[in-house]
Amino acid sequence: MASLPESLTELIHRLSRLPGIGPRAAERLALAVIDKNPTEISALAHALNEAVARVTHCPVCGCLSQDGAECRTCQDGSRDNGLICVVESPLDAIALEKGGGFHGLYHVLGGAISPLSGVLPEDLRIRELLARVASGSVRELILAMNASPEGEATALYIRQELDEQHEALTSEAQKAGAEAPQRVRTTRLARGLPSGSQLDYADAATLQSALDNRTEM
Ligand SMILES: [Zn+2]
Repeated sequence: MASLPESLTELIHRLSRLPGIGPRAAERLALAVIDKNPTEISALAHALNEAVARVTHCPVCGCLSQDGAECRTCQDGSRDNGLICVVESPLDAIALEKGGGFHGLYHVLGGAISPLSGVLPEDLRIRELLARVASGSVRELILAMNASPEGEATALYIRQELDEQHEALTSEAQKAGAEAPQRVRTTRLARGLPSGSQLDYADAATLQSALDNRTEM
C-alpha cells in the first residue's frame, strides 16, 4: 500500500481488524467513506463515538442497553417475566428476538464455560441468574446455549447449580415452617440446530422452531 496516503492506510488497517472484513473489503469501505460528504462522515464518526460511549449492558439481563439503564425487553411490561431464555451473548438474544415469537425475558451469560480458554463459571453471569431464580418469579429457564461442547457443559453446570440452590431453599423453608419453593422447569432448544453452530448465525425460522419444540432437560 505504498502509494496510499498514510491516513488512508491507517483507516484501512483499522477497518480490516473488524470481524468479517478482509483487506479488500477494508480498502473498498475506506475509499467509500472518504468519498462521502464531510457532514455524513462526521455523522458517522459521531455515531461511532456515541455507540462506544453509551451502549452498556442491562443490569438485569446483560443484553445491550443505553447509559446503564434496563434494556427495552426488561422494561417492556407485556413480556412474561416467568420465562427466561439463557444465552451466551447479546447477539443470541438479538437473533431470537428476530423470530418475534418469544415473549419472555433473557439472561446473557457473557460466554460459555471453557477451562481450556480460561473461562470459568465465576467469569459468567451465573450467580446473577441464580439470584433471579431465587427471587421466586421464574417458572421456566430455557437454556439456549450454542450447540458446542462448551455450551453443553455450561447448560449442565447451570442445571446442577439450580438443583443445589433448590435443595438449599427447600431446607431453609422447611426449617422456617414455610412452603417449599417450586422447582424451576429447565428446558433446552430442540436439536434442529446444526451441531457446533452458533445461535446468532441461525435463521429466524430455525431458531423459532428450536424454541417452540424445546425439550425438558
Ligand atoms: Zn434487560
